[in-house]
Amino acid sequence: MKSGLLKFVVGAASLCGLAAVLLCAWALAGAGAEAPPGFGLLSASSLLLVALGAFLAQWRAWRRLFRWVTALGGFIGLAALLMPEAMAPSASASVICYGAAALLFLACRYGLGQAAAALGLLPSLGSAIGQLLHTEVLFGRPPALVLLATVLAGIALLGGTAHRGAIRIFLSKTISGSFARKQILVATVGPIVLALFYAGLLPQGGTPLALAETVASVIVVGWITFGATALVGRRLDIKRHKAEAELRNAARHDALTGLLNRRSMNISMPQRHAEARAEGQAITLMMCDLDHFKHLNDEYGHAVGDEVLRRTAQRVHAAVRDSDLVFRYGGEEIAVLLECGSFDAQRIAEKIRESVKSKGRRAHDDDLPPVTISIGAATSEKAQTELKELMAAADECLYAAKDAGRDCVKTVTLP
Ligand code: GH3
Ligand code: MG
Ligand code: MG
Repeated sequence: MKSGLLKFVVGAASLCGLAAVLLCAWALAGAGAEAPPGFGLLSASSLLLVALGAFLAQWRAWRRLFRWVTALGGFIGLAALLMPEAMAPSASASVICYGAAALLFLACRYGLGQAAAALGLLPSLGSAIGQLLHTEVLFGRPPALVLLATVLAGIALLGGTAHRGAIRIFLSKTISGSFARKQILVATVGPIVLALFYAGLLPQGGTPLALAETVASVIVVGWITFGATALVGRRLDIKRHKAEAELRNAARHDALTGLLNRRSMNISMPQRHAEARAEGQAITLMMCDLDHFKHLNDEYGHAVGDEVLRRTAQRVHAAVRDSDLVFRYGGEEIAVLLECGSFDAQRIAEKIRESVKSKGRRAHDDDLPPVTISIGAATSEKAQTELKELMAAADECLYAAKDAGRDCVKTVTLP
């Protein structure tokens, strides 16, 4: 939808610029000659400011300045309410809404700003529907160029913020986007069809009072309501996605250490092993177990034990590559799956052992009692050994490391 969106924005903006130029020429011509009814220099300057502001706000660097230009046009429209001979009230109403929209955009309230801009389209829409239904329009019919300029300025304001707020959802390819588009279509076409039907039922010579305005109001209220619904729906979607991502993350990780848990180990380990086997790559499984951890717990308490476990997990994680998988296998046992041969396995295991044993650089780490770790590493040079056998071999190496006095690494290489 990106290129479509771009075309929409650029198209609306350039049309708005064209309308602004036409208005400018008209205002200059009108200064000498007699101005059309409901259109004076005040209307021209107000519409010109709104249209130019909406058009030029497409340039990011000048956006804020030109939003103020549109807002200024809105203020002039507000003043013109006192002089209906200088500006038709319908045109004033439109530019006031556009000015309010510009101020709301300045405050980054895009949804509300778009609602205000949509409201600004109401008089023009009422006029067009009155034409369609052959009925009188309460606001009167503004001159064609004023109608064109107000409509285009509204479209440019809406188009210029199409990448945000409710319009972004209407233009998006998602299910909610497609649903919102259908809702808008029904909200627009439905009232017009019904009004055409009612206008057909009118007795000869009967005048449908404010039918066009009512239809236009229903349509615009429909747009705003569905826009607000789409915005709220999107916010809920974002919240739900975030909550789901957090839940998925919590289901995969161990709460104490933040390492991958046993559940994800049962899923990821066979996958990684199968990939290595398919590519004929070496794979190493390390089983790491803290030494005399029971004593540490007894001596310092479980809370300190937990902190030591957390620190150990961080150190093991930091000692391997990001692509290696580090799991909390059991209580104080950590399993690491690495894509490396026996030479690197020995080197990395020693690195882990050293880093777990080392004194912390941070003051907080220094408070914790020292620990050592024993590591059993089993390497399958072409990943031909089954995962179960690899785990059993790594376990055996771990026992051997414990038997050898702990704080050491034992390795084995398999096919
Ligand atoms: P060894 O050198 O033979 O491994 O001696 P060990 O005392 O570490 O023996 P073992 O591995 O069997 O002990 C595991 C201990 O780890 C038992 C339990 O109290 C402790 N432990 C397991 N999970 C946690 C935990 O989440 N937090 C804390 N604080 N301690 C734990
Ligand atoms: Mg232990
Ligand atoms: Mg243990």
